[in-house]
Parts: sequence; C-alpha cells; structure tokens
Amino acid sequence: MVYPIVAYGDPVLRKRGEEVDPQAEETRKMVEDMFETMENAHGVGLAAPQIGKSLRIFVVDTSGFVESEEADEEGLADFRKVFINPVKEDEDGEPWLFEEGCLSIPEVRGEVSRPEQVTLRYQDLEGKEHHETYGGLKARVIQHEYDHIEGVLFTEHLSPLRKRMAQKKLKNIAAGKIKVSYRMQFPKSKR
Ligand code: ZN
Repeated sequence: MVYPIVAYGDPVLRKRGEEVDPQAEETRKMVEDMFETMENAHGVGLAAPQIGKSLRIFVVDTSGFVESEEADEEGLADFRKVFINPVKEDEDGEPWLFEEGCLSIPEVRGEVSRPEQVTLRYQDLEGKEHHETYGGLKARVIQHEYDHIEGVLFTEHLSPLRKRMAQKKLKNIAAGKIKVSYRMQFPKSKR
C-alpha cells in the first residue's frame, strides 16, 4: 500500500519516534508499505514519521543516485535496507556539503554539512542487532533519515540565509499550495 507522504508543517515530523517490535507482523507490513511508498515517490529514503507514524524505522534505497553501473564506485545500486530502532553511536570524518531534498518538503533543496561517516546500531526484521559504519552517500541518506526519527528536518541545518529564502515555499507546502507528482497529506487537509 502506498501511503500519502506527510507534508512539512505536520507535528508528527517534529516528534521523536518510539521503538517498535521488529518481529511484529504489523512492522513487517509497514516496512513493505514504506518501500512501496518511497519507490512510488522516487525517493532514496523514507522514515516512518513521513507516513504519519512516530516510530523508529526508516528505509533507504540509493539506486536512484546511480546513473550508470560503471560509475557506481560506492555500491549504491544495490543498497536497499531497513533500519529498525537505530541508535546513532558516532559520526566521524571531515564534514562535507551536499545538496539535500526531502519527500516531505518538495521543491526545497539546500546544501547541508554533515560528517563523512556515521556509525549506528539497529535491528532487522528478524530482530537481529547490527553494528555498522557507513560513509559517503550511504551515510548521507542515513543521517538525513535518522534526523527524521529524532524529529529533525534538513531545513534546520541550512544556513540562516537559505533558511530565510525557503520560508515562503515552506509556508506554501504547509498550506497545501504545491503541485507534487505523488500523493501528499497536508496539515490543513486533515481537519
Ligand atoms: Zn526527508
């Protein structure tokens, strides 16, 4: 099932997600739906709050970054994964700028500085615990999605000038005054 993606302005995007039971049937179903919803919107990552659920789950699929197989030095083409109850343990390496966007904040993009590496532990759908370090674009997507389950949006990391420039667009998104190719749920349309 494809969920509508919750738009900027909805309080669920500002809440810290709660832990889930990785082996529960509803978790498995939700993860399936999250992959489907992300693919439908051509995203590279999606976190549970973006489908209106304040839970610590996110999915990533970085194949969208790959233009040709030969250019896939980071192994992005087959990096498709679910992170359940992730805990960020460390960030390391030189901070670098990368232009980020977000399915909940269409048409707003901006350069965000984040450390090159991230180390986290998380569970898979079998409840097995993993402890892994990622770098480059994999780390970038994970850091962005991890922020979501902490109630943080990438726009908070923008420079003060870029933040000011984005204000009008953000207001329009929250009011539902935007055209998007995928289905969204706007804060005002709920009432
Ligand atoms: Zn996002």
